[in-house]
Amino acid sequence: MLQAHPVQAFSDNYIWLLEAGAERAFVVDPGDAGPVLLALAARGLTLAGILVTHHHPDHVGGIAQLLSRCGPVPVYGPRGSPASGITQPLDDGDRITVFGFAADVLAVPGHTLDHIAYFFAAPGAAAPLLFCGDTLFAGGCGRIFEGDPRMMHASLARLAALPATTSVYCAHEYTLSNLRFARAVEPQNEQLLRRQLDAEALRERGEPTVPSTIALELATNPFLRCGHTTVRAVAAQRAGMELAGEPEVFGLVRSWKDDFR
Ligand code: ZN
Ligand code: FE
Repeated sequence: MLQAHPVQAFSDNYIWLLEAGAERAFVVDPGDAGPVLLALAARGLTLAGILVTHHHPDHVGGIAQLLSRCGPVPVYGPRGSPASGITQPLDDGDRITVFGFAADVLAVPGHTLDHIAYFFAAPGAAAPLLFCGDTLFAGGCGRIFEGDPRMMHASLARLAALPATTSVYCAHEYTLSNLRFARAVEPQNEQLLRRQLDAEALRERGEPTVPSTIALELATNPFLRCGHTTVRAVAAQRAGMELAGEPEVFGLVRSWKDDFR
């Protein structure tokens, strides 16, 4: 069974450490080598490979040091990425194997143009696993730095269509601020209120709010709910006009969040 353990880095990054019961581990988006080396040592694991979702320094900044400390291991990442050090370039639809478990590669551009996600449909665990970097967050989504709202909306729609039971491993602990914004969009959503209370309790105990599930995101994440009447209505109200379709609603909600404090 493939298991994912969080390694905390910087102020709010999660580097995911994957292991399957042997003494080897993959890491996802090692922005910093230090905490990864400590986590490997603490668990008695050696590094077997690296998965990269996109080129931002807080996701790739530790690769060079990990390779120099742990020896050469395969570094999977998007083909054509500005990130250096990728040895196994990947395209949409590719399939890789991690400790015998297959992962499908999904191109999810928008946050960056090179962004990909890794989906393990049958990781030997109860539920599928998704590693989605800075595309889908718990209760939110990444900022659009390189793409446009239509592109980001289409990428999120691909992730939203994955099995509802999928465990969603994003790369940042942004959940509380995401849920505060979500509550501004949908103040009447009771499941969202419950989620906010749950997340606050977890953070008070110092525990991660990640992973979430696709089912929970569909029920509470405003960026996956742009087709719902409530979200459409509040977006149209803010825009001062009817919005043509879901991508337009998404664009409005995304720029609202950009300015939300
Ligand atoms: Zn990023
Ligand atoms: Fe990031």
